[in-house]
Amino acid sequence: MKIGRYTVDIIETGRFRLDGGAMFGVVPKTLWEKATPADSANTIAMTTRSLLLRDDVRIILVDTGIGDTGNEKFRSIYSVDRSEHEMVAALAAVGLTPADVTDVILTHLHFDHAGGCVREADGQLELLFPDARHFVQKRHWLWALEPSEKDRASFIAERFLPLHDAGILTLLDEGEEVFTDIDLHVVDGHTFAQQLVRIEGDDASVLYAADLIPMSAHIPAPWVMSYDLQPLVTLREKHAVLERAAEHGDILVFEHDPLVEAATVLRGNRGYTMERSGTLQEMLAASRV
Ligand SMILES: [Zn+2]
Repeated sequence: MKIGRYTVDIIETGRFRLDGGAMFGVVPKTLWEKATPADSANTIAMTTRSLLLRDDVRIILVDTGIGDTGNEKFRSIYSVDRSEHEMVAALAAVGLTPADVTDVILTHLHFDHAGGCVREADGQLELLFPDARHFVQKRHWLWALEPSEKDRASFIAERFLPLHDAGILTLLDEGEEVFTDIDLHVVDGHTFAQQLVRIEGDDASVLYAADLIPMSAHIPAPWVMSYDLQPLVTLREKHAVLERAAEHGDILVFEHDPLVEAATVLRGNRGYTMERSGTLQEMLAASRV
């Protein structure tokens, strides 16, 4: 299915689990567990869902997921499960290998978004997309190099520093455009200078909402993660994105929702709710009728 000049595919690269309380901030468990059931350790199921955009020249991947690196302790804390989904197999399913990818847009450098930039080979880390140019906001890169005590566990530098060392990293200034019909929407609530990816077509607009709206359960504006550095900024940024989505029928893609891939939203008296949901392909097909 195409949006404008791009053929769009979803690339699912793995499952993992995070603390349900941390995922929903001040929202009581009695409310969030209806949407996302927790296990005995209070963790909820999550996925890592990348976006693949292809035109005649470029093959652009948005985010690289949690990757296959990390020791047993890391994998067990986050219940990393790649038995059903992983990057190389998911690319193969659409007829590609990692070497075909020309560009990688990283929304931000948290390990569940940029961890898949490297893979383990003979006990060493190597770049998975060594020939691709990788794009990160400059302000975010600088923050990732020296995060605060609150968020430093989310950054694993050995999984993104090799991009810089190999000379395949491009640091962007806010407002800089890189690809035709792709808009990078910079937000500061979750972390500093996260870039969301908007693709504009004639009859549809898709917003890859990354960690501004990671799961469909986060559509209500005040459902903000505890991980966020500036929750009130997130709230404002969510209102802006949701208002536009409700008005224009934008299709939101959820990077971390294991069940709901994409949805449109409605604005009602009690805030924003999900209107229609489905796979991105289904949502794009529906937007054309
Ligand atoms: Zn994040």
